[in-house]
Amino acid sequence: MTDFAELYASLAGVQREMAEKLARLRAMRPFFIDLSLRENAVGASRGQTLDAKITILSRLRQFGFDDILLGTLDYAMPDEPTVDDDFMVYLRDHDVDRRGCFAFTQVGTLDDDGRFLPDHSQYKLRDYAVPNTLHQLALGWRGRQTEQQREALASRLAASIAWLHDNVVGEDGGPPRIIVNVIDGCDGFVTDAESMCWVFDWLAGQAIEGVSFEDPRGTFLPFQVGAFVEMARAFTPPPLKLLVHLHAGNGMENAAAIEALLKGADGVWGALSKQAAVIGHASSSELIANLVRLGNPHLGERFRLERLLPLTRALRRELEGDTPVDWPIIGDNAYRLPLSDFRQRNGRFMDLPPERIGGRYRYRLCPQVSDTEVIAGRLAEVTGQSMETFGASHLLEMMRLMRREIRRGSPLLYDDPDTLLALYRRAQASHAEPSVSWGREDSPSQESGNDALAPLLDDDTDIYRALLESTQAIPWRIDWETLRFTYVGPQIAELLGWPADSWESIEDWAERMHPEDRDDVVDYCVMQSRSGIDHEADYRALTQSGDFRWVRDVVHVVRDKQGQVEALVGFMFDIHDRKLGEQERLALQRRLETLSFQDGLTEIANRRMFDGQLMDEWLAAQKEASQLSLILVDVDHFKQYNDHYGHLAGDDCLRRVAKLLGEACSEGLLARYGGEEFVLLLPGCGPEVAQDIAESCRRHVDKAAIEHIASAELGNITISVGVGSMVPRVDDEVEDFVTAVDSALYRAKQEGRNRVISCLMDRAKVGAVQH
Ligand code: GH3
Ligand code: MG
Ligand code: MG
Repeated sequence: MTDFAELYASLAGVQREMAEKLARLRAMRPFFIDLSLRENAVGASRGQTLDAKITILSRLRQFGFDDILLGTLDYAMPDEPTVDDDFMVYLRDHDVDRRGCFAFTQVGTLDDDGRFLPDHSQYKLRDYAVPNTLHQLALGWRGRQTEQQREALASRLAASIAWLHDNVVGEDGGPPRIIVNVIDGCDGFVTDAESMCWVFDWLAGQAIEGVSFEDPRGTFLPFQVGAFVEMARAFTPPPLKLLVHLHAGNGMENAAAIEALLKGADGVWGALSKQAAVIGHASSSELIANLVRLGNPHLGERFRLERLLPLTRALRRELEGDTPVDWPIIGDNAYRLPLSDFRQRNGRFMDLPPERIGGRYRYRLCPQVSDTEVIAGRLAEVTGQSMETFGASHLLEMMRLMRREIRRGSPLLYDDPDTLLALYRRAQASHAEPSVSWGREDSPSQESGNDALAPLLDDDTDIYRALLESTQAIPWRIDWETLRFTYVGPQIAELLGWPADSWESIEDWAERMHPEDRDDVVDYCVMQSRSGIDHEADYRALTQSGDFRWVRDVVHVVRDKQGQVEALVGFMFDIHDRKLGEQERLALQRRLETLSFQDGLTEIANRRMFDGQLMDEWLAAQKEASQLSLILVDVDHFKQYNDHYGHLAGDDCLRRVAKLLGEACSEGLLARYGGEEFVLLLPGCGPEVAQDIAESCRRHVDKAAIEHIASAELGNITISVGVGSMVPRVDDEVEDFVTAVDSALYRAKQEGRNRVISCLMDRAKVGAVQH
């Protein structure tokens, strides 16, 4: 029989080791670079708009993150700006505090003569005045590295780091903080651990803040990640930071993160929320929660822990709508690729392609991350056709359109089949090649209107007509001798409002042009046409409703057999959005921002604005232990007012009440809470002042004597008011505060309306109501 006591005693070491690990995790102050602003890293199906990014940044700051990744400059197509570009430009131009802000950049390259060529992302980092960078290095190693290969890598990195130091202004004018991230880090250790350690050893001598390695497919096991950390740590000792970034391909990403910390990593870079299983990554919210679970006190000092779940959930909802978080390997979305790079391959160490376990790859369209392969895959799924059916140029155009739409502030769920197909059709339409000569050189036409299409084309008129008239490029033809239009595509009516048959002569064209553009454009086009040179011109076209829209005419000169100019054939493109300059776009953005926080009827702040402000002020009041007051106003017997005077008069009355409330109180935030209810938020204001303000609001509305004969007992429009004040503590909930004030309002109604009731916000009596 086993000697129990002896066996138990022999396990003391196991317990000690566990206790020692727990103690270390408790004492730890991990370093985080938050990635919540980079939705594409985890393949969210809805992109973040500029508006969303600005809000998220302030929420992350409030939560307590010092180091925040703003976005992926390395991800953009060089000639197609993304919302990340807009965001960084916005922060720069609005002088937003960017301390602790990072952006991803790609390591540059060396040409054959050893000259350094910075990556376009590096230029952007400099131009957008982002002070710090996570510098992305993809090793792409196959097999063991030669000494020469190592040296080549080192010189490339050295040049890239030196460029950053020479060109990027860091925080408070100092040097940029650079963290080099080895994208295929875990694979690098497996491929050639010695060379990998050599790279870390070399990096330890560079002017950088730290190094990081990534497990891009998230397939390595915690003990492997732990071993790689130990090796990397040995060559890059503190104060250099050592970070890890772990994806979620096998479901062990959180365990691997803990293991990495135990083996000496300083921290992680990752987002609070978690998305798509196949490339989702160890989420920092889960890591924070797990460390708090173990009794680590430091995270509570650093972060507003009570906001962790609401914030994480809000971020997730913004990106994913109601799509549930999925599970690695077995979840429905586990093998749905948002980015083809993340494909697991047969024969690669630690990979498990889905076919091996009876599955197959499927595709998931994410506006910022999906590449052409994924888009083709999703189109194939939706249409049942093969991936090859879809032309590369259309797929590329789809990528561009998605990016543009987010920039315009309208993110769509492109994964949805109908939305996807609509996107595909638009890509087909906007990718019509304008250089095709549509002119028929041997059949000049004097006809006008759309019937003139026949001579423009040949026998397959119907097909060409359908094609021409379904593109977004608007075709037209002008007879050179008469300078009259012989054809204008009907789509022009949709773009500019003027019907196709209203375009008779070149005069109409010139007249419907912005006066500032007219002379130059007409002169230029006439001159080019006379010389028989194909050309294009951008100008602002007048719409029928009196606005101007930027268009581009691409003009082909058609000659007769003698070489004489016979006709001009061209396409008009809508380039309005592209043309709106950065300034105009930002101004528009700001205007929309204002509008999105404004109530359409009363023009005071709307509920959205109030909700945001309330949360901000609540947190601030908790932090500073200061007073916060809330006044809820409800118009009395307003249904009867509507019934008696009609809805339009009702609207008018609401506008007047809003105005009266604004006059009675010039402090704080006045907002329309909904329907005939208004709210006043008064930071820093105590109960006596709040009570006075509430009373003067009531009096002011009453004295305005807006007739309301249907209100039997009162005779004119009156309001009932609930008011409350408190100094919120950390464990108070804002919802309870609002509910208590709402109950006070309810009491005011019950007790006869046209009165103010305040609630005592003494915590012991939350909800208690008094006069
Ligand atoms: P009480 O004194 O108890 O508040 O009675 P009430 O009639 O004001 O309250 P009730 O909630 O029954 O009705 C509110 C009315 O406000 C009903 C709705 O038609 C009207 N209302 C809400 N929003 C608007 C609006 O934007 N314009 C107009 N004209 N009426 C509105
Ligand atoms: Mg009401
Ligand atoms: Mg009412």
